[in-house]
Amino acid sequence: MAIVNNAPRTASPLVEVRNVRHIYGKSGASGLLVLDNVDLTLQDNEIVGLLGRSGSGKSTLLRSIAGLIKPTEGTVAFPPVADCAPTSVSMVFQSFALFPWLTVLENVEVGLEAKRVPKDERRKRALAAIDLIGLDGFESAYPKELSGGMRQRVGLARALVVDPSILLMDEPFSALDVLTAETLRTDLLDLWFEGRMPIKSILMVTHNIEEAVLMCDRILVFSSNPGRVVAEIKVNLTQPRNRQSPAFRALVE
Ligand code: ADP
Ligand code: MG
Repeated sequence: MAIVNNAPRTASPLVEVRNVRHIYGKSGASGLLVLDNVDLTLQDNEIVGLLGRSGSGKSTLLRSIAGLIKPTEGTVAFPPVADCAPTSVSMVFQSFALFPWLTVLENVEVGLEAKRVPKDERRKRALAAIDLIGLDGFESAYPKELSGGMRQRVGLARALVVDPSILLMDEPFSALDVLTAETLRTDLLDLWFEGRMPIKSILMVTHNIEEAVLMCDRILVFSSNPGRVVAEIKVNLTQPRNRQSPAFRALVE
């Protein structure tokens, strides 16, 4: 029995980026203007792709949304959503960004350390994230013992362990071979469609147009020198967004 929620989704913004400019180095002629008047809204329950040339400022924009850098001008706001905890953001990196001297379990626990979660609960939540992402049995392995795909699974587990509402992914599959990337994409989308992740929305940078079309509801095209959103492509190939349907939730829970 297929239950599909065809009701129109009410737009509810999770992130609002307004008039963001970013200059690296000194301002003025000697600085490098990377982002210029970037406007972007990420709605609840959508996957959005960001497509643009190398060096156009996509990673800078993601880092601004993650709070890792403060844009020179403009605002990144997280409007409160009724009856929900404040919006929180996690990021997944192209190069995985794992600590080579820590095991898989310890790498995932790192995600919780800054949050002052007690040791026992850290372990419990890290093991649950490891299980969710398909790394069961690899808890004691070190990153160098894992394939690229497994390493990125660790990156994903570390991002998910904090129960973020938004997942930012910076070319998450581009360091992987075609088949590994396909498997990881499918696994991630399955978790998303089954409502097994806390994630409400995903913003992902990719160079791969096919990947963007397969995964995203909308694709934002970024210009270079400086970076700015210049076009939006709506994609209709993805499955219906039925995570919000009470009937669907009753089926999967
Ligand atoms: P993209 O992710 O689209 O490839 P980036 O945001 O990484 O683009 O970089 C945009 C531009 O900013 C590039 O020219 C890059 O060399 C420069 N850049 C990135 N990070 C820094 C930094 N920390 N300091 C100075 N310049 C930087
Ligand atoms: Mg980049």
